Amino acid sequence: MVLPILKFPDPRLRQESLPVREDMPPEELQRLVADMLDTMYDAGGVGLAAIQVGRPLRLLVLDVGLGPEVYVDPSEPLLGPERARMREGCLSFPGVFGDVERSTSVEFEEVYRAASATGVPPMVNLVAAGVNTSDLPGTPEQRRMRAQCLQHEVEHFEGVLLVDHMSAVAIDRARRRAKRLGRGR
Ligand SMILES: [Zn+2]
Repeated sequence: MVLPILKFPDPRLRQESLPVREDMPPEELQRLVADMLDTMYDAGGVGLAAIQVGRPLRLLVLDVGLGPEVYVDPSEPLLGPERARMREGCLSFPGVFGDVERSTSVEFEEVYRAASATGVPPMVNLVAAGVNTSDLPGTPEQRRMRAQCLQHEVEHFEGVLLVDHMSAVAIDRARRRAKRLGRGR
């Protein structure tokens, strides 16, 4: 089911996300992941954090062209040494793009991760393991994009947004654009 995406400057986008509780029923988590994937694909995005659909949980989905990937409760990201400025958008800022400097690889010592080439990953297969984007499948471009996306989505967990990487002028432009799009609905 496609869910409504919170748009900047919705104050809920600034709230901190909490760990997915261990006692969250697996079918509820699976439903939420399926809905987040539907929502991300419907909007043509590469990644989506749970707070963007109004759920303050440390849960994100992404797809760099290799099928859906689900990351539940990743630990603090350890940023790789190589950095690059990359063009970046966000489904909460329709039509807005900024150049953001990111590490080209990122490592999580712990993450509950499920990846599947088709459909919704079975939640029962979630395993606790570390992950380094340098070791994940894909072309160098896809691995770089995955690292960029992961850094962007885990910032959503802390209420940090694309605008925080942009200049005051660019933020003002984004705000006016968001207002304009809001009026169009
Ligand atoms: Zn975003």
